Amino acid sequence: MKQIEIVIQNRTGLHARPAKVLVNLAKQFKSDIKLFHGEKRANAKSMVSVLTLGAVNGSEISVQADGVDEEKAIAELESAIRSGLGDNDSVVEAESAPVTHRGLRQKDAPVKNPLIVEATDQGVIKGVGAAPGIAVGPIFHFQQVEFDLDKAGSGQIDLAEALTYAKTQLTELHQQMTENKLGVEAAIFEAHRELLDDPELADAVQAHVNKGQSPIKAWKAAIDEQAAAIAAINDPLLAARADDLRDVGKRVLRLMLGIGDDGASMPTTPVVIVARELSPSDTASFDPQRVLGFGIVEGGPTSHIAILARALGIPAIVGVDESMLALEENTPVILNGNDGTLTVNPASDVLERAQQSQKRWLEYRRFAQEQASLPAISQDGKRVDVTANAGSIADAAEALRMGADGIGLLRTEFLFLERTTAPTEDEQFSVYNAIAETMKSLPVIVRTLDIGGDKPVAYIQMKPELNPFLGERGIRLCLNRPELFREQLRAILRAAPSGNLRIMFPMISDISEIRQARALIEELSRELNAPPVPFGIMVEVPSAALMADVLAPEIDFFSIGTNDLTQYTLAMDRGNSALASKHDGLHPAVLRLIAQTIDAAHKYGKRADICGELGSDSAAVPILLGLGMDELSVSIPSVPTVKAQVRSLNISDLQPLAREALNCSTAQEVRELVKKQLG
Ligand code: PEP
Ligand code: MG
Repeated sequence: MKQIEIVIQNRTGLHARPAKVLVNLAKQFKSDIKLFHGEKRANAKSMVSVLTLGAVNGSEISVQADGVDEEKAIAELESAIRSGLGDNDSVVEAESAPVTHRGLRQKDAPVKNPLIVEATDQGVIKGVGAAPGIAVGPIFHFQQVEFDLDKAGSGQIDLAEALTYAKTQLTELHQQMTENKLGVEAAIFEAHRELLDDPELADAVQAHVNKGQSPIKAWKAAIDEQAAAIAAINDPLLAARADDLRDVGKRVLRLMLGIGDDGASMPTTPVVIVARELSPSDTASFDPQRVLGFGIVEGGPTSHIAILARALGIPAIVGVDESMLALEENTPVILNGNDGTLTVNPASDVLERAQQSQKRWLEYRRFAQEQASLPAISQDGKRVDVTANAGSIADAAEALRMGADGIGLLRTEFLFLERTTAPTEDEQFSVYNAIAETMKSLPVIVRTLDIGGDKPVAYIQMKPELNPFLGERGIRLCLNRPELFREQLRAILRAAPSGNLRIMFPMISDISEIRQARALIEELSRELNAPPVPFGIMVEVPSAALMADVLAPEIDFFSIGTNDLTQYTLAMDRGNSALASKHDGLHPAVLRLIAQTIDAAHKYGKRADICGELGSDSAAVPILLGLGMDELSVSIPSVPTVKAQVRSLNISDLQPLAREALNCSTAQEVRELVKKQLG
């Protein structure tokens, strides 16, 4: 047996992300691995167990390995823990942020449909828009069923059977979602299935059974205890894990008690569902024909319910004021998933307008989807490329299906995150090659690694930084680690002939970074005897926008990353929910930088694209086009509606509007201006 003592350096302790890295690493060894923290003991191969250890910054823990590969296990775990398990100072902000990757953070904020009429302010309960669209109907309070553990139904089964059956159900749900191209949603059910295999949960149940409890009560007690222990750590991300555990716990209880999905109070007519919270299982069990919309008190725009609702095309609002729960059953409401409002007992004229808006929204979306494969040509004949932001091979296929004109931003971080070693050059090559082949002649802009900041990785040792968003992030990290950078560039250059690849560097703030990166591309192209590949930069740091006329001659294209450009211009953390309503890319300060970048690009005959979320905001599209943006790269589900919007606009008419926007004082004024002029 081998053992080491080690102090946890992570500022926020062993919370979700580092715990996951540790568990995944521990699972690679045959040895039995335990962690000790004071009185607490954890199985290092169990996420639930590691999370409940409660190890905070400065906690001394013991790592103990017992088995054939104990020596190697201890050495690797020690090195991983010492290097922060992929964590750094930013992790608190990053993880409690509304989002991170595809489908998460403000990136996938719902597309604002230009046709939608805003509700009046009378009798309005406020929330946050989570899935676009309008729902009009009576409310239905969804009640969580209380299980009577002593009263089994006729279909009662034992715990082992229930676990097997639950795994089958979850596998089927996972498959269904995957087949419907709902990868992110599928992952929720996969995570649930993994929880059912957690060794520590099984031990906890057994311990209760050994104390004489019935299996059903032992199961409930083990789930409740572990969920409570995780929730007590008081971290928003862990709270979601606790909810997952309770959700999966209920699934098994329902099976053991022989209660079907109809055991919960289910609507029988079309309704707007309101609830304090809804689990993914509850949501997946509703008949979509009977659910017009969701209004939820808990959760943010990135919660499971928000993700599922968006994927199912059901309007939803989250973070709704508690007063919603006091409304009487069947109260008529208008739920607006775009502006996050719930209008209660609307006057007949408001109701009528909302019904018309709802009808138009559905027609608009259907129409946009039907036309998705056609080019986006404006009323005055200007073609605008509408491309997609992608983060996997599956995304590339989905982007094609949604009519994207290419991939305007391939976030390559997906290959590097959530693992314990860097992907090899060949591994990267095969993924870039597959994406190039999928997209055929359509352009694919491959962004080189943008880790650091909010996206740390375990195997790249970095000193803790006080301000990681201002630290060794993106291109800065790559230039400081030439081996990592070379491997990625070689993989891209090798894959380029299979399709139409371009290279893009993130976080450029100075011309010297472009020159160093270009020199490396040239050197590697010579080495590989590879054809030239166009390259551009992301403009997401104010200095790059301000110096755009100096940078333009050095590159082939600019792609404006408004998520970061807004954060750095307004000095507002993009993940800080308290600032979410102010973090608006339509702020005239950001618009002036965008305008300056586009003008500089065009002066040198280069293209200017946008790949930040602002590109799918329907209030922003007219301004961006009016400023001369050549391409909009948007989240995949937004491609058809953005294309439809481009087709509805006359770009020459938008130029004066866009210039007027630059002279507004606030983002709100810009939004009002657009509304006044375009309705
Ligand atoms: C951006 O900053 O706008 C962007 C598209 O990059 P990311 O969101 O990946 O930082
Ligand atoms: Mg960025």
